[in-house]
Amino acid sequence: MKTKWSFLLVAVAQIAAAQTNDGFDAFFTSQTLRIDYFHSGTATEEHIAIDQIYAGGEWAESRTHLLDDLNLGNYLVRVSAAATNQVIFSRGYATLFNEWQTTEEAKRGIFKTMHETVRLPVPKSPVIVEIYGRDKQNYFTRQLFATVIDPASRFVSREQRAMPAEVLALIKNGAPANKIDVAVLAEGYTAAQKQKFAGDAKRLMDIFFAHSPFKENKQNFNVSTVFVASADAGPDNPRANEWRYTPFGMSFNTFDTDRYMMSLENRAIQDAASNVPFEYVIILVNSTKYGGGGIFRFYSCTTVDNEQSAYVLVHEFGHAFAQLADEYFTSDVAYSDAYPVGVEPWEPNLTRLLAAPEVKWKQFVEKDTPIPTPWDQTGYLKLEAERGKAVQAAKTEAEKQAVRQQYAKLLDEFFAKQPYWGKVGAFEGGGYLAKGLYRPTLRSIMISGTRDFGPVNTAALQRVMDFYTK
Ligand SMILES: [Zn+2]
Repeated sequence: MKTKWSFLLVAVAQIAAAQTNDGFDAFFTSQTLRIDYFHSGTATEEHIAIDQIYAGGEWAESRTHLLDDLNLGNYLVRVSAAATNQVIFSRGYATLFNEWQTTEEAKRGIFKTMHETVRLPVPKSPVIVEIYGRDKQNYFTRQLFATVIDPASRFVSREQRAMPAEVLALIKNGAPANKIDVAVLAEGYTAAQKQKFAGDAKRLMDIFFAHSPFKENKQNFNVSTVFVASADAGPDNPRANEWRYTPFGMSFNTFDTDRYMMSLENRAIQDAASNVPFEYVIILVNSTKYGGGGIFRFYSCTTVDNEQSAYVLVHEFGHAFAQLADEYFTSDVAYSDAYPVGVEPWEPNLTRLLAAPEVKWKQFVEKDTPIPTPWDQTGYLKLEAERGKAVQAAKTEAEKQAVRQQYAKLLDEFFAKQPYWGKVGAFEGGGYLAKGLYRPTLRSIMISGTRDFGPVNTAALQRVMDFYTK
């Protein structure tokens, strides 16, 4: 027993060392190691191949939280000291590639390649870098990649990798190491539209910081805008046959979903953001059309001139910042690869209720709230179906807008009548599925354009904010 205990104490001491500044300084310099790689495969197969490794630019993240205990993301990068095998850094993250794997295109066995980046502080000595994917039970057992990186070698590029841009500090609250550093990139703004971008960024970030819990944590953020002039105005819009040459290649109709707007040009995004110390990237896209997207620790984006833009910005940041899941659903999706039957999702705001009446956010549930929590899902789906038909039937954009407003009011009234309105429970429907998945509140910003995240999402966001700042 004595031997076992002393072994345990050594292990605890090592973890403790990695969680302090002493640990950081023992293993790392204050610069960023950027590992660019290609992620290729099909629905059932994936491969990672290094593109280029760069060293340079200030390390913006925490110097105390070196090991990631958030258990978020579909992938995990794990870094060990090559000489001792001691794990000195880890981060969970998500990728667009993983989403693509659930598409019909991927299931047909077609290969696709996407460019991705993982970042860590530059180590002082050679390290083993491993990338893991989750298995069917959501454990990180699938090793996809492993290599040794010697930071002093000539295979690590020292070039100053920052796309020429105009950088402005929008919010400056302190040194990057203890703040959440956000780079806001301009997409689809021509040189003549530079002032428009400045105005859009200010307007939207003001609304962003009016939302809880970002409002209460504003002093923990640094926000910089990065302006790169675009040859053309606006993003690609394939369904309208509109094609634009822009710095980051943002396009509507990602994976053939009209309003889903993402980029396949990660290298350019990383190059532009590298003008500032950053942890998170928000891309503001110069368009009036509804659209956006967000991937955990990758980036989030929204168009700027739609009346829903501010809502989309906050919603997508919820995905990108804390891996909050979508809480919306429709009646016609019966199965989702993202949330297999019998497996508890690791996203903080969805549950399969496998241990019902025990629920993973039980600290927010009042004792007289039943689990699962009753609500009129049939009535809701009927109302949504009617709304869809009415919007489609309206002829002009103005008529469509009037219909949307009319139904927004009807939905507000519908939800206000539900017996557990405003309560935390486990409401069936979420993660695109009407059955078998449960969300914590009837209506948070992860389901639709209401103002609140609700208590469960707020706690999840706060946990990530604390990870970066405490
Ligand atoms: Zn979403």
